[in-house]
Amino acid sequence: MVQIHPPLPVSLFTGYSGAATTLSPSFSRLSSVLLRVSPLELIENKLRLLREFNNSLSPGQKERVINDSHVKRNVRWCGLTVHFTINCPFQCSYCYIEDMGFSFSNPKPYPLSGRELAFALLLNPRFLPGRTGTLLAIGAVSEPFIFFNNALDKLEWLAKLGNPIQFSTKQYISSVMAEKIKNISSKYNTPISPLVTIISFEFSDLLENKAPNPEKRLDSIKNLRDAGLSPILFLRPLIPGVNLHEVDSILTAAKKAGAVGAVIGSFRITLKILQRLESIDINVKQIKRRIKRIDNVQRSIPLPEKKLILKKIRDYGLIPWASACCANSWTANVPCPSACFINGPCTNCPNNCNYPRDVPDDKDVAQALVRLGIKIKVKGSNVLLLNYPFRGVEMTVRNISRRVPIVKKEFKKKE
Ligand code: SF4
Ligand code: SF4
Repeated sequence: MVQIHPPLPVSLFTGYSGAATTLSPSFSRLSSVLLRVSPLELIENKLRLLREFNNSLSPGQKERVINDSHVKRNVRWCGLTVHFTINCPFQCSYCYIEDMGFSFSNPKPYPLSGRELAFALLLNPRFLPGRTGTLLAIGAVSEPFIFFNNALDKLEWLAKLGNPIQFSTKQYISSVMAEKIKNISSKYNTPISPLVTIISFEFSDLLENKAPNPEKRLDSIKNLRDAGLSPILFLRPLIPGVNLHEVDSILTAAKKAGAVGAVIGSFRITLKILQRLESIDINVKQIKRRIKRIDNVQRSIPLPEKKLILKKIRDYGLIPWASACCANSWTANVPCPSACFINGPCTNCPNNCNYPRDVPDDKDVAQALVRLGIKIKVKGSNVLLLNYPFRGVEMTVRNISRRVPIVKKEFKKKE
């Protein structure tokens, strides 16, 4: 068995019971009843898959996987971000990837194969496979479908894990491509949630000069919907003084094309992004007015209009979401793994997550977490962490318990 960092408790490898669990329960968004979270099954499923993958990869492949960043990556609110591409040729002027060390030139497929990528996720102690496990978010640092066939291989291997998969894209998705994505979802009964980004018609030539134009992206929405998926408009970033006045026209067009809902998100600025926007004559007055400090750190521009925009989305007959995790959860028919319904940006969407109805039993939660080396005490809708075995343990606790973790200050200091 390969060694991983941070190490998982030995019990995770030795405690394998051989219990057969289904890879992913039958996928249907038609049901209004959310899938039950079974904490112990999540752990058993992880053990089983770890064994299977460990037996199927060569020593050389394992060596490559162990050193990959997906093994150590923290789970964020939107889930675990998975990279299909390195660098992005679309060069959007509001994009933060250059600030993160990526480039607008020389795009490459992510160097791991689909099978290796899936194994990397399994080796991450924060990751839980299965439909009620960790949300997967593809497209955070590049356009995922630049190398479509390579992306399909990766998508297929991730789908075998059964987790809710969400991708965000500006690529033109033809009807053939949409069918292929849908086929993967159907083959593995794995929900796939497409987010199609459109933020401006007026300024797309300036803001997203190298990306397919918004009209092509509306076609992507249509093609994805026709293929039987539930495409969602990704209305992010909302940039004060730049695109807020276009919200109505974007919602109208997206709805007409077949979008089922919209996820909104604010704008993160850095000095580099500000200078880029100024260099193409984008009006940045409002941006500067709303934030005191602009430097190399990514900072969110306050967006008090958020509530109003969410209401607008609802008025247009679309489902409004303030967080991508909720759109992914709705598509997968699972209670939100980030527990947004307890203390997150819940918009009371039709997923209708509910505490205490949709959270697992206290004892099951404690037993499952102990197998990951996490000691806790459940207190109603909270989970008190009694130790802090690895960085980012909070999101794993949220995922397994569907409750809100409380971390003592002493643990936070140690981190
Ligand atoms: S498509 Fe996304 S990752 Fe690529 S440049 Fe635009 S914002 Fe950045
Ligand atoms: S009901 Fe609330 S928490 Fe659940 S998915 Fe919808 S918006 Fe998110």
